[in-house]
Amino acid sequence: MSIAGFTEKIFAGRWLAGAKIGDAITVSKRFNRYGVGASINYLGEAFKEKQQVDATVRVYLALIREIRRNRINASISVKPSQLGLAIDGKLAARNYSRVTETARKNGVFTWLDMEEHRTVDDTIKLYRSQVRKKMVGICIQSYLKRSIDDIERLVERGAVIRLVKGAYQESPRIAYRARSDTTANYSRIMEYLFRHSQRFMIATHDPKMIGYALELNRSYRREVTYAMLNGIRNKALLRLAAAGNRTSVYIPFGERWLAYTLRRLREESNLALVARSLFENQRV
Ligand SMILES: Cc1cc2nc3c(=O)[nH]c(=O)nc-3n(C[C@H](O)[C@H](O)[C@H](O)COP(=O)(O)OP(=O)(O)OC[C@H]3O[C@@H](n4cnc5c(N)ncnc54)[C@H](O)[C@@H]3O)c2cc1C
Repeated sequence: MSIAGFTEKIFAGRWLAGAKIGDAITVSKRFNRYGVGASINYLGEAFKEKQQVDATVRVYLALIREIRRNRINASISVKPSQLGLAIDGKLAARNYSRVTETARKNGVFTWLDMEEHRTVDDTIKLYRSQVRKKMVGICIQSYLKRSIDDIERLVERGAVIRLVKGAYQESPRIAYRARSDTTANYSRIMEYLFRHSQRFMIATHDPKMIGYALELNRSYRREVTYAMLNGIRNKALLRLAAAGNRTSVYIPFGERWLAYTLRRLREESNLALVARSLFENQRV
C-alpha cells in the first residue's frame, strides 16, 4: 500500500464520512439520532480552474436537495476557494449567491469557512453580500490579530459567527503563534460574543474553552452551538448534546481528502493527543 493510501486508511477514515453525498447523509443521520446537528463540507480547496468550481457548486446544490429529501438536521459548510475566490471575486459572489439562495429555499443554513489570511477581506465581503438575507454564518479564527475588529463589525451587521482557533500556518506578523495566545484571544472574542451576539457557534475541542462558554451562558443565556470536527472528540460532543446543549459536528466528505487530513495530522503532532483520540471509541 502507498504511503498516501496508508494515511488515508488510518487517519482520514476517522475524520471523513466517505466519498459520496450518501455517505455524508448516513453519518449525519447517526449524529442526528443523538441530537447532534451536522455541518457538511465537500472536500476540495484552492481551485484554480473554473471547471473544478462549477463541478463543486453542482455537488453542493445536490447535497442541499438530499438534506431536504432526507429531512436531516444539517447545514452546509463551503470554502470560499471552492466557489472560485482564487480565480475571480465576481465568480465567487455569483456562486455564493446561487448556493445560499438554493439552501435558503430548502431551509438549509450555509456556513462560510475561513481559509488563509490573504482571503479574509474577500471572504468577509462575500459574506456581507448575503448576511441581510439570513440563514448564513461565517467562520472567524482567533489566531488572527485582526479578528476582534472583524467580529465587532460583523456582529453589528447581524452576523452569525462560528469561532475557531484557526488551522493554517500563518506568519507571526499577523497571527498569534503560541497556542496560549490564540486561546487567550479565543476567550476574549468569546466574551465579546456573549455580551453582544444572540446566536453563535463555539467550534473547538478545547475542554477549557467549552467549560468557560458553558459558564458564561449560565448568565447570558444565548443561543450557543458547541461544534467539533468529526472523529476528534465525538464522545465529548455526545455528552454535551445529552446534557441538553445545542451541538453540531463538521462532516467532510469527498475524494480530495489530502489537504484536510494533513491539517488534522499537524494539529495532532502532539503524540499524547493522537493516542487519546485513537483509543477513545470515536464511532457514533
Ligand atoms: C466545527 C469546526 C469548524 C471549523 N472550521 C474551520 C475553518 O473554517 N477555518 C479554519 O481555519 N479552521 C476551522 N476549524 C479548525 C480549527 O481552526 C482548529 O484548527 C481545530 O478546531 C483545533 O483547534 P481546537 O480549538 O480544537 O484547540 P487545540 O488548541 O487544537 O486543542 C485544545 C485542547 O483540545 C483537546 N483536544 C484537541 N484535539 C484532541 C484530540 N484529538 N483528542 C482529545 N483531545 C483533544 C485537548 O485537551 C487540547 O489541549 C474548525 C473547527 C471546528 C470544530
